[in-house]
Amino acid sequence: MVSGTTQVCNAAYGFNGWLGLATISITGGTHITQGSAKMNDSYFNTGTYNNTNERQHVMCQEVAHTFGLDHQSTDGSSQNSCMDYFSNTGANAGSALSTQPNQHDFDELALIYAHLDSTTTVASAPSKSSAADNADDDPNSWGMLVSQSNNGRSSTYEAYDRDGTKTVRHVYWTLEAASKCPGCDHRYDGGH
Ligand SMILES: [Zn+2]
Repeated sequence: MVSGTTQVCNAAYGFNGWLGLATISITGGTHITQGSAKMNDSYFNTGTYNNTNERQHVMCQEVAHTFGLDHQSTDGSSQNSCMDYFSNTGANAGSALSTQPNQHDFDELALIYAHLDSTTTVASAPSKSSAADNADDDPNSWGMLVSQSNNGRSSTYEAYDRDGTKTVRHVYWTLEAASKCPGCDHRYDGGH
């Protein structure tokens, strides 16, 4: 991650169970200081996930997490928001449902950013992290599992640094990783 920026990346991160991974750092409990959104081509290059709608859904959600948006639903139903877990795969691969934010997402953003202090955490000049910056690929660095959806597809992990900065990770698990053991911490399911 690079302070003041959101880094958006896609790569073949391996068959580690996640389709998408959003990481944000929060200082003082309120301000997001940096973020990254990663899309895992190891899965998006396979038949199940290799379609425009599924890619857009996951990408939209991961990037939106770095702005501070949370899910509208995690049960697999479509709220026609990319902040849900509708699966644009199989019979629904051609469906553009849930591939974009909906009005509720935009309303939430307006609320989040209408705060009245003068803090800004935006970098004055955009910059990219180096390709070697893959620290958050190590699940052991994610900290504590603080919530997970009943179907096992959505997990949130939190870790605290010594300076009090909180790092939140939103993990978008594959159908396979989730169904194998919905209640398990998928970090330890071991390969998919
Ligand atoms: Zn998510």
